[in-house]
Amino acid sequence: MNIILLGAPGAGKGTQGDILAKRVGLPKIATGDLLRAAVKAGTLLGQQAQSYMDRGLLVPDEIILGLIEEKLGSKDARHGAIMDGFPRTIAQAEAVDGFLSSRGDQIDSVVAFEIQDETLIRRMIGRAGEEGRSDDTSDAIRKRLQVYREQTAPLLQFYEERGVMARIDATGSVDEVAASVAKAIPS
Ligand code: AMP
Repeated sequence: MNIILLGAPGAGKGTQGDILAKRVGLPKIATGDLLRAAVKAGTLLGQQAQSYMDRGLLVPDEIILGLIEEKLGSKDARHGAIMDGFPRTIAQAEAVDGFLSSRGDQIDSVVAFEIQDETLIRRMIGRAGEEGRSDDTSDAIRKRLQVYREQTAPLLQFYEERGVMARIDATGSVDEVAASVAKAIPS
């Protein structure tokens, strides 16, 4: 089963992805985490990605698609995966469709996290204090929300039209949101 968690930065996809991964027994693949690990390790990929990330821009598709295909093609993901922060563009969504269909697979479910901008900004500023992420500055936060609206939000319609999408209210507590995710993706 392949599941996508779709929503703006700060919507809680990472936390809910971990809970869901444990419950359904699938690995979570978070492209943002993979990129941050590459930056920290100082790999070439990390060096290429860093300036985009720090500015709140999307990392080019070629870099992301290499990463995701490696992860989706790994043994861990042979029964599927939960994707957090990917796809973020229609081009990425089409590429992952092509990759999955080449092995007779597909995207089964998309959970769309719905939340107001003010709540997102509050959460991201809080997280900046806790995690010290270099892209949780107010300029980068504003940019990431704009990039989400322009480049990622069109995916809502893309998946809605396929009838695989469930919208959930992502404003409540972690437990409340986890319950909504569980309704959308029963074990
Ligand atoms: P995230 O942790 O998902 O909020 O991602 C942090 C940053 O990593 C984003 O602001 C982008 O710069 C980059 N990133 C993560 N996932 C993707 C993706 N699927 N496509 C392009 N850039 C990405």
